[in-house]
Amino acid sequence: MSDCLFCRIAAGPHDAGVLHSSDRVVAFRDVNPQAPTHLLLIPREHVASVADLTGSHDGVLAEVFEVIRSLAERESLDTGYRVVTNVGVDAGQSVDHLHFHLLGGRALGWPPG
Ligand code: AMP
Repeated sequence: MSDCLFCRIAAGPHDAGVLHSSDRVVAFRDVNPQAPTHLLLIPREHVASVADLTGSHDGVLAEVFEVIRSLAERESLDTGYRVVTNVGVDAGQSVDHLHFHLLGGRALGWPPG
């Protein structure tokens, strides 16, 4: 979708903020980090949110979580991290392209706001 910000980021060109780019998954640094490490992982395919996932997305979701594990190691998040995906208005989703936040590098409060 040409009017989707994250589709445009996935299409490139990639700058230093992009840490992973494969046929199916792109990972990049959040422009407004909420923790010392704050990455976003997205499928290249435009899916609005978790609410629109189907069984056909099983493979890409498995890759997203493989990349999360690998980037958490690369960012030395040895003492823990959080993976968050917001769905819809009540959760504060501001970009309608499925994305997973990977947050770490400090103690994270619970419950979230
Ligand atoms: P959400 O509120 O869950 O939809 O998260 C959207 C995230 O995208 C926010 O954390 C924003 O800071 C981040 N964001 C918005 N525009 C950009 C951008 N151009 N590059 C990187 N991250 C972005």
